[in-house]
Amino acid sequence: MTTAEESIAARLQGVQQRIRQYCQEAGRDPTSVHLLAVSKTKPLSAVQAAYAAGQRDFGESYVQEALSKIHAFHPQDLVWHFIGPIQANKTRAIAEHFAWVHSVDRVKIAERLSAQRPDALPPLNVCVQVNVDDEPTKSGVSLTELPALMQAVNQLPRLRLRGLMAVPAMRTELSLQRQPFAQLRVALQSLQRQAMALDTLSMGMSGDLEAAIIEGTTWVRLGSAIFGAR
Ligand SMILES: *Cc1c(COP(=O)(O)O)cnc(C)c1O
Repeated sequence: MTTAEESIAARLQGVQQRIRQYCQEAGRDPTSVHLLAVSKTKPLSAVQAAYAAGQRDFGESYVQEALSKIHAFHPQDLVWHFIGPIQANKTRAIAEHFAWVHSVDRVKIAERLSAQRPDALPPLNVCVQVNVDDEPTKSGVSLTELPALMQAVNQLPRLRLRGLMAVPAMRTELSLQRQPFAQLRVALQSLQRQAMALDTLSMGMSGDLEAAIIEGTTWVRLGSAIFGAR
């Protein structure tokens, strides 16, 4: 192994250890929190090093960059997740090459993904992205508009609507970091009461992992904690 590969393997072990520890402190089953390795801007060799160390789920934010990695490296059990902003002219590539999309925030994009999902593949797993802090520069639907969008996306035949995703504004204190994640959890619970079969909260990054685990995340999306600073 090269030094770069060794450090990716070591950091991966470190974050898995942190996830287990936070789960234990929160009284959660550690197998209920899945690790998405966010490899955006990192070379294919970094994906391959994490894969060799046992990581199977990878997140990408830019379609062209993702496609070049996917075409170059496609073991059967590697699962690609799209987590970036989605332009309408990129939906076909996403529908054809990814298993999950965490960042759906308008019905037009969801309709295109459903129409373009190849019949030979299982339905595309989808989360709707929520702009929990109502930040003008950020993607995501508002909490007010969320229920209507969820109802619409839930009707689409080639999508499997799984839950909610958010990227809250930066906060440094644990108690403050928990607030937007708690809002997302409450929103998911409310939708579940409306008979939607949802099981996913995609929330928590390198800087707010513990808060997300306390508030019930099921997918933590970690980039720099695994691959180093971008
Ligand atoms: C880049 C990115 C991440 C990972 O961020 P880190 O701070 O490097 O852990 C997670 N989620 C989304 C949506 C991202 O764009």
